[in-house]
Amino acid sequence: MGEASPLLHFLFVSFPAQGHLNPLLRLAKRVASKGPLVTFCTTLDLGKRISAAAAAAVAESDSDLIPVGHGLLRFEFFDDGTDPTDPHRDDLDILLARLESNGPPALTNLINRQTEAGRPVSCLINNPFLPWALNVAENLGIPSAVLWVQSCAVFSTYYHFHHNLADFPTEEYPDRTVNLPGLPPMGPEDLPTFLLPSNPYKPLKNVILAQFKNISKARWIFANSFEELERDAFDAIAARLPIPVIPVGPLVEAGEPQEKIKADMWKPEDRCIEWLDKQEKRSVVYVSAGSIVMLTSSEMQELAFGLRNSGRPFLWVVRENLRELLPKGFEEEIEAEGKSLLVEWSPQEKVLAHKSLACFVTHCGWNSTLELIAAGVPAIAFPQWGDQVPDAKFLCDVHGIGVRLPTPAARAEIVRCLTAATDGPDAEAMLKRAKKWKEIARAAVTSGGSSDRNIERFVDDVRKWVA
Ligand code: UDP
Repeated sequence: MGEASPLLHFLFVSFPAQGHLNPLLRLAKRVASKGPLVTFCTTLDLGKRISAAAAAAVAESDSDLIPVGHGLLRFEFFDDGTDPTDPHRDDLDILLARLESNGPPALTNLINRQTEAGRPVSCLINNPFLPWALNVAENLGIPSAVLWVQSCAVFSTYYHFHHNLADFPTEEYPDRTVNLPGLPPMGPEDLPTFLLPSNPYKPLKNVILAQFKNISKARWIFANSFEELERDAFDAIAARLPIPVIPVGPLVEAGEPQEKIKADMWKPEDRCIEWLDKQEKRSVVYVSAGSIVMLTSSEMQELAFGLRNSGRPFLWVVRENLRELLPKGFEEEIEAEGKSLLVEWSPQEKVLAHKSLACFVTHCGWNSTLELIAAGVPAIAFPQWGDQVPDAKFLCDVHGIGVRLPTPAARAEIVRCLTAATDGPDAEAMLKRAKKWKEIARAAVTSGGSSDRNIERFVDDVRKWVA
């Protein structure tokens, strides 16, 4: 009898934010489905928030190991020293500083405990908002990978900026158009806002650019995108970097067997689906600005009146901290009318897959963008900052499956865009393109598809390294 093959154990380390947890956990599940053991970790503070979903999956299993395809998934959290009484504990600069100082010893500890438990870590995968995780892996002699959670176009844009490889707008030349290989020319209105001289969010710019500081320590760089969507961008960046950026997306999962294992920071309201079931086919406007964006009072008012004036039924995610910005009496009016629904958090992928959905008014966070592409739903794009701006450009101008809402959003423009996306002269062609992209996106992640093969190859590479 031959020797038993060594255990393959992948450790995923996620930055504590919804837009990072979702793609990282989805990749973790895809890797686990190929056979290995996968441990998914993030901070203890966040772990407490998301553990209800994780616990439900664990409860169905007879240990802390959750079966996923041919492999197993478990959760573990590291203590980053959060003071739960500190009202500023989640401010980005405070959070980053705390993670940078407390994260490395806590993660080292967690990894050492895996070795003691007889399941040494074979590979660490993090998202690059935690650049120090690569140092931890290096110090412990573990190969590492990063998952870029935005588009390849945005990776390329930041990479060129960070390495000073192209001329970007400056205070002296604010209107400059940037020409990057594999991408269409991008004016200031198309670029990630953090790269503009007018950017007010310095900590975010710093953390984004810090991602490139030690990315060369990673043996693999993955992107949540797919080859067919961004072929030219992937080819062009491959020529710039010593290792390729490998597409493993779209990391979406509506309808997949493991969609129950989630990391929602807020509880999704199931009544969304019950309500959608009662609506007419292709009638509902879904509206969400994701988990972070803060709309101004005037934006909320214009959106509210625009939606109401359109006369269409809508399902609008309004997080608690934005409720007070709604027009006075709006919530009561909507409730009394019974035609539309306001919720605090939706099961977004299920909503997008619902037959009653007509279009998605989105802030174009990259996860939402991929989720709508994979659902074949036309968009009305209202990007606010950062990568949302180029995401909207590609969605509308390159892939032709969205209408761009001019900023600042005005109620009449909202009505016009809703009509353009659902009943206008280009609406049918847009829906056809959306459905075509849905097929291509789904094919990329199903067994044998372009991204699925890349994940398979990754697991095999690590297996060879461990053997
Ligand atoms: N999301 C959700 N329910 C909601 C709103 C958002 O499940 O009501 C999910 C959405 O499906 C996506 C993530 O939260 O996976 C938001 O990520 P995205 O990159 O779109 O935006 P961010 O929140 O990072 O700005």
